[in-house]
Amino acid sequence: MEKPQTLITDNKRLDGRSPEEMRPLKIIAGYLEKADGSAYAECGSTKVVAAVYGPRDVHPKHDSEADKAIVRCKYDMASFSVDGERKRPGPDRRSVEISKVCSGALESVIMTHRFPKTAIDVFVEIIQADASTRVTGLTAASVALADAGIPMTDLISACSFGKVYGTLNGEPVETVVVDLDKAEDNWGLADVAFAYAPNLGQISLLQMDGRITREEFSSGMSYGINMCKQLYELQKATLKKKYE
Ligand code: ADP
Repeated sequence: MEKPQTLITDNKRLDGRSPEEMRPLKIIAGYLEKADGSAYAECGSTKVVAAVYGPRDVHPKHDSEADKAIVRCKYDMASFSVDGERKRPGPDRRSVEISKVCSGALESVIMTHRFPKTAIDVFVEIIQADASTRVTGLTAASVALADAGIPMTDLISACSFGKVYGTLNGEPVETVVVDLDKAEDNWGLADVAFAYAPNLGQISLLQMDGRITREEFSSGMSYGINMCKQLYELQKATLKKKYE
């Protein structure tokens, strides 16, 4: 895709959304039969499957911790998940980094001390990528963990926000927007990945690319927290539905 002249015109984004509007959301708990817990999540055309196994024995054994479970999240983008060129299959620097930060974010809400010397394995597979994949992966993974019956202090609800360039009444503007799509992530001026435990009010992941002022950051955070609260309601509803 060529760089667009504007990403937002008179407060209307390329896909017609307003700055604080997220894409349509869908979450399904217990999406796979074989995993101990699983979930599917969709944010616009970003589509993700998460599967959880464990608590189970750790291999290799020396990776285990005497007083708690280890949380190993493996993020992967399927080679068919991106348009245009096929993504080279297998791990790369980006997926290793995302796996590490997602493991940390999920570990912050899992009661790991209840399962010493075990591993909780979380697999996040991106089957269609239209930006915000790590945050949609985290939203799905926390539902999959709850579906596996793993005790947690809260769910993780995660989203992205950022800053895009555009025009307002013909004048150039920079606008803060929530839930970035591929064009906004690619061409935007800044992007933030944000994971939140809504009940605890705790931030478990915060990554940023680009430049943003303090004021822009706080309005992005308030859009982001608002989106996470809506995600949270959807996450709880899908889990309740499964166990009704
Ligand atoms: P996130 O998906 O968490 O926002 P990035 O900012 O790294 O993470 O990636 C933004 C988007 O760029 C991805 O969601 C995907 O649409 C696209 N992308 C990332 N890596 C590749 C790749 N190797 N090939 C094609 N597109 C990619």
